[in-house]
Amino acid sequence: MPGNHKRETAPMLESARCGAKTRSGHPCRAPAVKGRPRCRMHGCGRGSGAPKRNQNAQKHGAYKREAMERRQEIRGLLSNARKLCRDLSSPPKKDDQNERQH
Ligand SMILES: [Zn+2]
Repeated sequence: MPGNHKRETAPMLESARCGAKTRSGHPCRAPAVKGRPRCRMHGCGRGSGAPKRNQNAQKHGAYKREAMERRQEIRGLLSNARKLCRDLSSPPKKDDQNERQH
Protein backbone atom coordinates (compact mmCIF):
# COMPACT_ATOMS: atom_id res chain seq x y z
CA MET A 1 0.00 0.00 0.00
CA PRO A 2 1.70 3.25 -1.06
CA GLY A 3 1.99 5.96 1.58
CA ASN A 4 1.80 3.47 4.42
CA HIS A 5 5.52 2.72 4.56
CA LYS A 6 7.05 3.37 8.02
CA ARG A 7 10.38 5.10 7.62
CA GLU A 8 13.26 4.36 10.01
CA THR A 9 14.81 7.83 10.06
CA ALA A 10 15.58 8.21 13.79
CA PRO A 11 19.21 6.91 13.65
CA MET A 12 19.86 9.07 10.59
CA LEU A 13 18.55 12.18 12.35
CA GLU A 14 20.57 11.43 15.49
CA SER A 15 23.90 11.70 13.66
CA ALA A 16 26.11 14.75 14.26
CA ARG A 17 25.28 17.76 12.11
CA CYS A 18 27.69 19.97 10.21
CA GLY A 19 26.72 23.37 11.65
CA ALA A 20 28.82 25.42 9.22
CA LYS A 21 27.35 28.84 8.41
CA THR A 22 25.61 28.74 5.08
CA ARG A 23 25.21 31.59 2.63
CA SER A 24 21.72 32.20 4.02
CA GLY A 25 23.28 32.65 7.48
CA HIS A 26 21.74 29.54 8.98
CA PRO A 27 23.74 26.56 10.23
CA CYS A 28 24.19 23.75 7.73
CA ARG A 29 22.01 20.77 8.64
CA ALA A 30 23.78 18.16 6.55
CA PRO A 31 25.24 15.20 8.46
CA ALA A 32 28.90 15.64 9.44
CA VAL A 33 31.47 13.28 7.96
CA LYS A 34 32.25 10.42 10.36
CA GLY A 35 34.93 11.52 12.83
CA ARG A 36 35.02 15.06 11.43
CA PRO A 37 33.18 18.22 12.48
CA ARG A 38 31.78 19.27 9.08
CA CYS A 39 29.83 17.80 6.18
CA ARG A 40 31.22 16.74 2.81
CA MET A 41 30.32 20.14 1.31
CA HIS A 42 31.98 22.15 4.08
CA GLY A 43 35.54 20.98 4.06
CA CYS A 44 35.42 17.36 5.14
CA GLY A 45 34.98 15.75 1.76
CA ARG A 46 37.27 12.99 0.55
CA GLY A 47 40.57 14.48 -0.60
CA SER A 48 39.66 18.00 0.54
CA GLY A 49 41.99 20.25 2.48
CA ALA A 50 45.65 21.04 2.13
CA PRO A 51 48.16 18.18 2.06
CA LYS A 52 50.18 17.61 5.25
CA ARG A 53 53.14 19.98 5.56
CA ASN A 54 51.80 22.14 2.75
CA GLN A 55 54.16 25.10 2.28
CA ASN A 56 52.08 27.11 -0.18
CA ALA A 57 50.32 29.37 2.30
CA GLN A 58 53.17 29.74 4.77
CA LYS A 59 53.90 33.33 5.73
CA HIS A 60 56.30 33.18 8.67
CA GLY A 61 56.44 29.62 10.00
CA ALA A 62 55.49 30.58 13.57
CA TYR A 63 52.80 27.91 13.59
CA LYS A 64 54.88 25.17 11.95
CA ARG A 65 54.85 21.91 13.84
CA GLU A 66 58.56 22.25 14.68
CA ALA A 67 58.17 25.84 15.93
CA MET A 68 55.15 24.92 18.09
CA GLU A 69 56.96 21.90 19.57
CA ARG A 70 60.01 24.05 20.31
CA ARG A 71 57.89 26.67 22.08
CA GLN A 72 56.17 23.98 24.12
CA GLU A 73 59.55 22.58 25.15
CA ILE A 74 60.77 26.05 26.17
CA ARG A 75 57.56 26.61 28.15
CA GLY A 76 58.21 23.36 30.00
CA LEU A 77 61.79 24.36 30.80
CA LEU A 78 60.68 27.80 32.03
CA SER A 79 57.96 26.21 34.15
CA ASN A 80 60.51 23.86 35.73
CA ALA A 81 62.92 26.74 36.35
CA ARG A 82 60.18 28.81 38.02
CA LYS A 83 59.20 25.86 40.19
CA LEU A 84 62.82 25.35 41.19
CA CYS A 85 63.16 29.05 42.08
CA ARG A 86 60.00 28.84 44.20
CA ASP A 87 61.25 25.72 45.97
CA LEU A 88 64.65 27.28 46.69
CA SER A 89 63.27 30.60 47.96
CA SER A 90 60.55 29.18 50.22
CA PRO A 91 61.47 27.28 53.37
CA PRO A 92 60.88 23.54 53.06
CA LYS A 93 57.66 22.19 54.54
CA LYS A 94 57.58 19.51 57.19
CA ASP A 95 56.74 16.84 54.60
CA ASP A 96 59.77 17.80 52.53
CA GLN A 97 62.06 17.52 55.57
CA ASN A 98 60.74 14.07 56.34
CA GLU A 99 61.33 12.99 52.77
CA ARG A 100 64.95 14.17 52.89
CA GLN A 101 65.68 12.26 56.09
CA HIS A 102 64.80 8.92 54.52
ZN1 LIG B 1 27.80 21.53 5.90
